Amino acid sequence: GALPARLHAVIDPWVRSQPDALAIEDPQRRYTYAQFDAAVRDAADRLAGLGLRGGDRLLIAAENCAALAVLFFAASRLDAWACVVNARLAPAELDAIHAHSGARLAVFLDADSPAARSHAERVHARRADWACIGPFSVTPADPQAVAEAVAAAPEAQVAALIYTSGTTGLPKGVMLTHRNLVFIGDAARRNRAITPADTAYGILPMSHVYGLASVLIGMLYSGGALRIESRFDPAEVVRAWRDDGITIMHGVAAMYARLLAWSRETGTSLRGLGLRVAQGGGGPLSQALKDDFETSTGVTLHLGYGMTEAAPTIAQTRLDAPRPDVSSGPPIAGVAVRRVAEDGSDADPGEVGEIWVRGPNVMKGYYRDPEQTAAALTPDGWLRTGDLGVQDDAGNINIVGRAKDMIIRSGFNVYPTEVESALNAHPDVLQSAVLGRPAGDNEDIVAFIEPIAGAPRDAQRLLVWLRGRLSPYKIPTHVIYLEQLPAASTGKVLKKDLKQRLLDGTHP
Ligand code: ATP
Ligand code: MG
Repeated sequence: GALPARLHAVIDPWVRSQPDALAIEDPQRRYTYAQFDAAVRDAADRLAGLGLRGGDRLLIAAENCAALAVLFFAASRLDAWACVVNARLAPAELDAIHAHSGARLAVFLDADSPAARSHAERVHARRADWACIGPFSVTPADPQAVAEAVAAAPEAQVAALIYTSGTTGLPKGVMLTHRNLVFIGDAARRNRAITPADTAYGILPMSHVYGLASVLIGMLYSGGALRIESRFDPAEVVRAWRDDGITIMHGVAAMYARLLAWSRETGTSLRGLGLRVAQGGGGPLSQALKDDFETSTGVTLHLGYGMTEAAPTIAQTRLDAPRPDVSSGPPIAGVAVRRVAEDGSDADPGEVGEIWVRGPNVMKGYYRDPEQTAAALTPDGWLRTGDLGVQDDAGNINIVGRAKDMIIRSGFNVYPTEVESALNAHPDVLQSAVLGRPAGDNEDIVAFIEPIAGAPRDAQRLLVWLRGRLSPYKIPTHVIYLEQLPAASTGKVLKKDLKQRLLDGTHP
């Protein structure tokens, strides 16, 4: 049937048919579908009372909690744009987004987040307490804020303003429409066969579109339940899988790697815990990690490919056709993908090309940035992802890396992801990041390694081991051990910070 036009309407059928079923809970609060609906209506009235109007931006600074979901749906009811930011951002990062968004109101969900609390204190937000969501802080309505036009069409009206991870540069404000988000919620439901019998573990930040659209909207659209957590703790994850009836797990590679390392350290079995679907995404995930997860849990690790600009899902492996390799699967139904060669023609089958995407998942544009919008969206509606990939005969996409990150070593193309996968397969390596560094007419290949706690830091041994697995021109020329790789709040390695370290010359 037809998709609901407005994102807040995705819960309506469940509010009628199963008002007392659990919709969403965090360690502090619990909402059935009826309670969630009532909380959203109440919050919408109160936000309107504080001066929020259609077309305004509502900044929500939070760590994962159920109140965030209430405010997000409440903004939708008012035709305002929800700009969800992770409270764990540094002050300058949060202030830059706050200023760029031109928010009318900023809400800091600081009841259980010291990070949100310190931002609230910095901007002198005042304390408030609403029965529907609990205590928080809020700024007075900004009289200078400009309301954008409100559109009737779900393809035109913005529901969320989400800033990208900032892996490659400054975060860009992605305008996602009601249609974008409802389409992705529907795709999550169909592709993962989600029903009211499912409960998902919500550890991915809802300040990122993966946690917001695929997980939150996907679950509420399907009548399932979502257990929200703000801190990744392997022991707590396994406890929840076992005791809270978790059937669906979403995570990024770093989370699955930590989970497996913890299970090994503590001798805790991950088998027979009732998980139905495990899903990874948001960045590359190595074959070694996928194999290890599947052997340790007996559950298939499904993968996908996406980006903020595509709300986020572009491709996903199919439940009925699990992949043994780390392919991201075929494009989701309704979404078209092209692979474009450097000369602008379609790449040959098997040849690496830039992935272009068209469909109801593609963003409206970057907010207040017509230049970057024009660079990313073609006049006939294709999104140029900047990612390089190949596709097999069945349409399965394999991302080899970002065009910007490709290293040219002795005239050969080296894709950092391939080298990282090989490195991550070594038992002493928790995660790695591979970057190019100009060296005369050539490029050096620099590998940053975050070792498993207590593992030896033996670069020579690592390189010898790698030589058995990669062609000589792909072998890193430099290995640098770091206690921890710099990571965004989503757990993604911040390559721009590593690039900066190389430019600063802090490394040999
Ligand atoms: P910024 O655009 O600010 O530099 P970002 O691109 O990391 O940050 P996101 O939108 O969170 O921000 O991430 C999308 C990117 O993540 C994709 O463009 C792609 O490079 C990478 N990615 C996502 N899924 C995969 C995957 N399955 N395999 C490899 N890379 C992936
Ligand atoms: Mg990006």
